[in-house]
Amino acid sequence: MNTMLNGRVLDLVREDLRGFAGYKSARSETLRGDIWLNANESAWANPADAQASCRRYPDPQPQALRERLAQLYGCTVDQLLIGRGSDEAIDLLVRALCVPGRDAVVVTPPVFGMYAVCARLQDARIAELPLVDSETGFVADLQAIGEAAIAGRAKLVFLCSPSNPAGSVIALADIALLAKRLEGRALVVVDEAYGEFSDNVSATTLLASHANIAVLRTLSKAHALAAARIGSLVADAELIDVLRRCQAPYPVPTPCAELALAGLSDAALEQTRQRVELIRSERSRLQAALAALPEVLRVYPSQGNYLLARFRDAEAAFRSLLTAGVVVRDQRAAPQLDNALRITIGSPEQNDRVIAALRALEMAA
Ligand code: PMP
Repeated sequence: MNTMLNGRVLDLVREDLRGFAGYKSARSETLRGDIWLNANESAWANPADAQASCRRYPDPQPQALRERLAQLYGCTVDQLLIGRGSDEAIDLLVRALCVPGRDAVVVTPPVFGMYAVCARLQDARIAELPLVDSETGFVADLQAIGEAAIAGRAKLVFLCSPSNPAGSVIALADIALLAKRLEGRALVVVDEAYGEFSDNVSATTLLASHANIAVLRTLSKAHALAAARIGSLVADAELIDVLRRCQAPYPVPTPCAELALAGLSDAALEQTRQRVELIRSERSRLQAALAALPEVLRVYPSQGNYLLARFRDAEAAFRSLLTAGVVVRDQRAAPQLDNALRITIGSPEQNDRVIAALRALEMAA
């Protein structure tokens, strides 16, 4: 059931882009031949291109990779768009759905900054519904988010689950309720960049019953391929089709697609799963170690591969870590986080260095 009650998801797309054909690249023609002289490519491979895999322009959406990703994320191939990281998918969504100067996006600070950056670039209004710092951690107030989205005529609601940097997750049932409430009005985008580290089931499972949900996934985190820039958007097939036409002609470089496919082999996936398990257990260990330090005021529970912690003196903690050669993310400029640092979970040895550097701070205090 992929049709919304109040019209199709396509109706959320800017009216001027609904029938937009985009750039017709030479690669998208369904022509047959064995001598390809239609794209002004070189007749010879570059001397450094031993596999001769880069002489010709790539498939805009490499089929084998698209199939593998669709299998991994539990969707159909036509519900998935590969982009240059999930960053590109965020940008495409804002550009295709928001009319500059008119439409709005809802964001939940403190949160990953690209939603607001893309909104600014598109001159879309930004409605901020701050996460609420509660006893259980930072929580999204979905009731208020729904109201703000309706009142502000938002086209997009960005939910980050697990949230970066807060670490909290949003229950699927609550996401479903919000999507139902915003049916025909807005697309609910669930950013699951850190989904592999969480206990939550993916929001892709809601797509069959809620066409106005879109899910962002990436190979940059758990799959350790940040430099390959392979992100995915999983959404209604008609919406994917429109976004593809708004995207750059050849967004996925062949070496990146090949590496990603190899990185998703059964054997590679098994190793990724083991590493995710290790990160999850290191996350508990580091959380307990940090919580035991008097200099640490609070460590938030996290479902991501990072911990957000508040310090008595965040500047001193940051410096102490730097002196030990450990670089963490200073969050003090972010709303509600004026004494907080975000620490990515590293290898056990790296985490030991973090703990030692913070204990050294205790001794100096
Ligand atoms: N979403 C979140 C929540 C992130 O933290 C990041 C990267 N820091 C991204 C999306 C973008 O990831 P990428 O473009 O590498 O897929």
